[in-house]
Amino acid sequence: MLSIIIPAYNEERCIRRAYDTIQALMQAHQIACEFLFVDDGSQDQTFDIITQLASEHDNVVGLHFSRNFGKESAISAGLGAVNGACAVVIDCDLQHPPEIIVEMYRLWEQGYEIVEGVKRDRGAEKKLHGVGAKIFYSLISRMAGFDMANSSDFKLLDRKVVDVLSRMPERGFFRAISYWVGYKKTTVEYNVRERVDGQSKWSTRGLVKYALSNISSYSTAPMQTVTVLGCIMLVISVIFGVWALIDKIVGRALEGMTTVIIITIFIGSIIMISLGIIGYYIARIYEEIKGRPKYIISSTTKSKQKSYAHSTEQGGSEDATRNN
Ligand code: UDP
Ligand code: MG
Repeated sequence: MLSIIIPAYNEERCIRRAYDTIQALMQAHQIACEFLFVDDGSQDQTFDIITQLASEHDNVVGLHFSRNFGKESAISAGLGAVNGACAVVIDCDLQHPPEIIVEMYRLWEQGYEIVEGVKRDRGAEKKLHGVGAKIFYSLISRMAGFDMANSSDFKLLDRKVVDVLSRMPERGFFRAISYWVGYKKTTVEYNVRERVDGQSKWSTRGLVKYALSNISSYSTAPMQTVTVLGCIMLVISVIFGVWALIDKIVGRALEGMTTVIIITIFIGSIIMISLGIIGYYIARIYEEIKGRPKYIISSTTKSKQKSYAHSTEQGGSEDATRNN
């Protein structure tokens, strides 16, 4: 059986369409499947619609978060609830073409353990977001050591991989972690479609925050650049030191005030930036060390079923949330 994980945040207008489209497709290709809708703390009717859908169809399960925890957490929760032999993660807005699932599934049948959906084009999006994404992916690909250009969350994973991922306690970046784990992998290209309804949940600010947090969770390079900057500054200061001494010796000491001011300001800003970078990492360590759950499931559509029931306990329980 194929488990289809669909994170949804304020998607009341997309849920039914997503289910109908994908279900019809799976039926046509005779692929048995279950739907795991993860409602990421929506404020609209999303969970009511999921609940209704679950009462109509046996192969639908819904998880509802106590608040908005973000798409990464929603994917995490979905992975924790998988019953199938493989699972696919797909957006609710059908921007990821559902037909690709069939292609992915066939590749899985041939023995691939991870089938990555790779964007052929990025669809209609703001120019700024496109440029930002380019910079972000080239940075993170270099830092993480694998080519992640045009990658997305649209991918199919074998159960083995799902189990490995859901045992990972870290607040990872799903897209990158699935590269990091290794396994037998292949890719399928797809064209990003227009959103069927509703609107994108990402603001420019949100995307920048997301990019920074993913870079820092994948690489300590920014922190190491602080050391490099320090070394460069040391060399520069030695040169200027010698210069100042010579000035002193030949009696020209009062000149060069401008240089002093510039250097002081420059060093001051480098130090502040460096402290900021270090502070950012300390904040991340603090976040991880607190060990708070990645998400809290406040209700599910099939609470009697064991695998979901224990996730409904409050987030304090490690077992219920982090490992689930
Ligand atoms: N999503 C989510 N939690 C969030 C934001 C988004 O679960 O906090 C879901 C959303 O419902 C959709 C998917 O993630 O199914 C992709 O979101 P969106 O379409 O807004 O992103 P975009 O396609 O614009 O990158
Ligand atoms: Mg979308």
